[in-house]
Amino acid sequence: MHEHLESIYHDLKLKYPYQKEYLQSVLEFFESINNVLLEDPKIIESNVIRNIVEPDRIITFKVPWVDDKGKNRFNTGYRVQFNQALGPYKGGIRFTPNVNESVLKFLGFEQTFKNSLTGLPLGGGKGGSDFNPKNKSDAELLRFCQSFMIELHRHLGPTLDVPAGDIGVSQKAIGYMFGMYKRLTHAHHGSFTGKGTNYGGSLGRTEATGYGIIYMTLAALDKYFNTDLKNITIIISGSGNVALHTAYKAKQMGANVVAMSSIDGVIYHPQGIDVALLEHIKEHNQLIEVYLERYPNAVFSKDTKKIWEIPCEIALPCATENELELEDVKKLVKNGLKMLVEGANMPTTLDATHYLLEHNILFIPGKAANAGGVSVSGLEMQQNALHTSWTFETVDNKLKEIMTKLFNSIYETAKSYDKPFDLVSGANILSFKRIYQAMLDQGL
Ligand code: GLU
Repeated sequence: MHEHLESIYHDLKLKYPYQKEYLQSVLEFFESINNVLLEDPKIIESNVIRNIVEPDRIITFKVPWVDDKGKNRFNTGYRVQFNQALGPYKGGIRFTPNVNESVLKFLGFEQTFKNSLTGLPLGGGKGGSDFNPKNKSDAELLRFCQSFMIELHRHLGPTLDVPAGDIGVSQKAIGYMFGMYKRLTHAHHGSFTGKGTNYGGSLGRTEATGYGIIYMTLAALDKYFNTDLKNITIIISGSGNVALHTAYKAKQMGANVVAMSSIDGVIYHPQGIDVALLEHIKEHNQLIEVYLERYPNAVFSKDTKKIWEIPCEIALPCATENELELEDVKKLVKNGLKMLVEGANMPTTLDATHYLLEHNILFIPGKAANAGGVSVSGLEMQQNALHTSWTFETVDNKLKEIMTKLFNSIYETAKSYDKPFDLVSGANILSFKRIYQAMLDQGL
């Protein structure tokens, strides 16, 4: 690594010794941009890297709420407004018990680069709380969301910061947050995306991340292997919104999705997962094991890691960060993996990514592959600004166009640096250049 990057990374480690997710995402980025530093002396002179790796601001606040038993409860809320060079801060809100400043800084950093890859005028941010929505009543969720918004609303706005959902934040929660935002600001405008389609949301937003993953996979299969998804064996980790819509689209394109998972285990069904059944199980908050009642020949394992032992040609990790470790990818490669597309944000650890690249497995990083969600969020903002709504087909066609263009642009970038198979570098270099130039033009 270039000494300029070494020195910044060293300082970040001293400043934020416990922020491992954040440091990991910065390191992944640094590993890609050595050559860019060598070709443009202004990057070091302007000290832009030190600037770009730190968020513009982090808003942290207490969220008091009352549970159904009348007991006072407290969580911590955050919004990391990472970078505004290309447009208003944009990125989801996550409610999971492991949310902390490090996780949100990593997600905000990734989002900034992801959003720039979409080609839409979007900056990057992320927010959330360590609130666990599991087993909460509707009334508890409503009280929590309202309290969360009492603090957060003053930092949001359609030209300032536009949140959406992320893990643990359903459309219901978005509705509750948007409803409170509206009461507090006296405005019904596009300050949230992922809204219900009956009050300003975009058709196709629910499907967007999953469909986008498959559009990008198809573009890559075509470019590198001159083939498509017909009869390709796929495994997909997770069974949330992203995983389910990835699975639906993959099946529609002729792939055989043989395994999916959730935090309570893995289902392996060589004849092909019944995605509608899995969605039904999830909607009813049942354990994934219930799948066997309909398909007794499918195999269930409590150990979520078992999914990586299932032979497949394409793996689509769509659950959460760092779910795929070195030992897991070794098994996948041994069993014939050809391609790995990150559906979640940074689901692959750094050493696992290195292993895949060294073994010539085509790897598409999440900041490119899962950009379909935020892309349709961008389209939702456009529709809100125009006071209109487009048909599902219009949105879906625009999504397809954005994902295909995105793939081509990171491929061309990788190729121009003599690394046609290194799409991590392609994505990092291209997004960095776009943000850097905008920051420079605006006096940083
Ligand atoms: N949470 C999603 C992501 O990680 C979507 C963000 C958005 O639509 O603003 O990209």
